[in-house]
Amino acid sequence: MPRFRRSALAVVLASVAGLTACTYNEELGRSQLLFAGRDDMAQAAAGSWEQLKKQQPISRDERYTSRLNRVAPKLIRAAGGNPAQWEYLVFEDKSLNAFALPGGRIGIHTGIMDIMQNDAQLAAVVGHEIAHVNYRHSGERYSQNMVASIGIGAASIAAGVSCDGTPQERRACEQRSGALVQALGIGAVYGAILPYSRKHELEADEGGVRYMARAGYDTCEAVRFWQRMQASSAGQQRPPEFASTHPASDTRINNLRQITSQQGKRC
Ligand SMILES: [Zn+2]
Repeated sequence: MPRFRRSALAVVLASVAGLTACTYNEELGRSQLLFAGRDDMAQAAAGSWEQLKKQQPISRDERYTSRLNRVAPKLIRAAGGNPAQWEYLVFEDKSLNAFALPGGRIGIHTGIMDIMQNDAQLAAVVGHEIAHVNYRHSGERYSQNMVASIGIGAASIAAGVSCDGTPQERRACEQRSGALVQALGIGAVYGAILPYSRKHELEADEGGVRYMARAGYDTCEAVRFWQRMQASSAGQQRPPEFASTHPASDTRINNLRQITSQQGKRC
């Protein structure tokens, strides 16, 4: 029996239990292939979040924390959630990044906060991250990875999952845990935030702007923020997840302009 982190095991068991799991997501308006339940993914992410908080310095700088503490609860409420059930932190990291984990955990890097000009621009980023969580993008990525059997032994080792047993057992365990690591996008702990697909990014942009509008923010600031991201990340060798080349900034900005124009705005 391979030794496996309990949370990871829960996800694996859930995925075995629900082999055919196509779920319709009301808010998203499409069906999703989901082997793992919301709670299973949240449980699996809990350990990674705790580990991240130990490894990555958390900013206590009020310039950052007061803005996040002001903006995040409004967005969470606008997205139908309860702020008390979410955790949001600023991490000291110069990269232009932000991320979210299942179960309602959001991390914003100081680097990306430095290019924001106002609360609404942070709202664009927080809204985007909440949308990734509400749309269960990690669960979907996990399920896709399971199907594709993308398992990387190195990733599972980095995640602190140790697999042993017969060679076959070990390989199967590594595949499952590798898929989990990729699904959570928690490469942050191990050096890189893993990118979502272009489709997930555009969906998160759209959801984020919807939440922004509901929370009373000027959604044109999402467009302005992305223009700033485009300018700031130009020339960077490896674009961060948040500014990943898929979708290209232009596609992203055009998409946001289209959504905001449906809200009756001209950005
Ligand atoms: Zn994203």
